[in-house]
Amino acid sequence: MKIVKIETEIEYIELKTPFVTALRTAWHVEFVRVHVACDNGFVAIGEAPATKAITGEDLETITEAIAQYKSTFYFHMPKDALKILHAQCEKMGSSAKAALDMAFVSLLAQEKNLPLYQYLGAKEATTLQTDVTISLNTPDAMFEEAVLACGNGLSILKVKLGADIGHAIEVTQRIAKAFPHVPERSDKCPRGAKVIIDANQSWSVQSCKHFIDETKNCKLELIEQPVKAEDLEGLKTLTEYSGVPILADEALFSFEDAKKVIETQSADMINIKLMKCGGVTKAVEILEYCREKGVACMLGSMLEGPHSINAALHLAMAYGDVLKYLDLDSPLLYKEHSDALDFEFVGCNITLKV
Ligand SMILES: [Mg+2]
Repeated sequence: MKIVKIETEIEYIELKTPFVTALRTAWHVEFVRVHVACDNGFVAIGEAPATKAITGEDLETITEAIAQYKSTFYFHMPKDALKILHAQCEKMGSSAKAALDMAFVSLLAQEKNLPLYQYLGAKEATTLQTDVTISLNTPDAMFEEAVLACGNGLSILKVKLGADIGHAIEVTQRIAKAFPHVPERSDKCPRGAKVIIDANQSWSVQSCKHFIDETKNCKLELIEQPVKAEDLEGLKTLTEYSGVPILADEALFSFEDAKKVIETQSADMINIKLMKCGGVTKAVEILEYCREKGVACMLGSMLEGPHSINAALHLAMAYGDVLKYLDLDSPLLYKEHSDALDFEFVGCNITLKV
């Protein structure tokens, strides 16, 4: 089986409401979809969203990078194409790599006649749970959004906060008080919710300490990337200070970054994303390392299309022991349901379609 054609197209998916974080506002998901065809008739799809604020790539740079390198993969088997992708395409961004990687890995699974989750090591399909994002907004609007989410059975909330620490404390207090998390009574406590805070690098060490002190009563699950990506020392200071686990997100892209965060004990947990690390192959390397070191992880995503979310969910089934949290809620934010999803989303539960 040899790769004979690689083509890209640009796709948009409208969102129900704008998605707002400390870094950006998005009104729709926009991504490059790549189609890879082989001489035996096998085809596979990969996707890369444009997330310039995080990966530095937009639709144009992703499309151009794939166009520039695609002939390098022609007439190679998928396993060799993967080696070329990760060893020789230095100028290609991590999202463009992720799109090609997930298509090549999908071809390897097809070659073995296995669904992707089994190819990646899962014995059986399991039910997964994702959080849902509450966008940065006024305290009233965020509270309303949390009420609506919980009413729809979405009980793991990822609350996006920004530089205004007074606003951050107010929002956290209101949401945590309204939806107390009672783990031992979770099925009897329909109003219960787990609350994850994501500051997307917008705080200083000092303001985060203030936030931690003022939200001690809130039983938060995690505080994600409070300080700038490059400030590992600040992150470590907060990890030592905080009773709530600190999750590193923008602080790591590659396997080497992940290893550094873990070795220096700069965070309690790490957020792995296909678009940051360069695809399924690289995410597996990080997950294997974390499995060996006993480090729990989140598998996250950008605002993504259905095929890249599929890849992440198949991967999640194979690493359920390492992945304590999933942040793969993009399909919940689409205005209309996508038939390209391999999974059904009901509340926060995700199951493979039969
Ligand atoms: Mg994050």
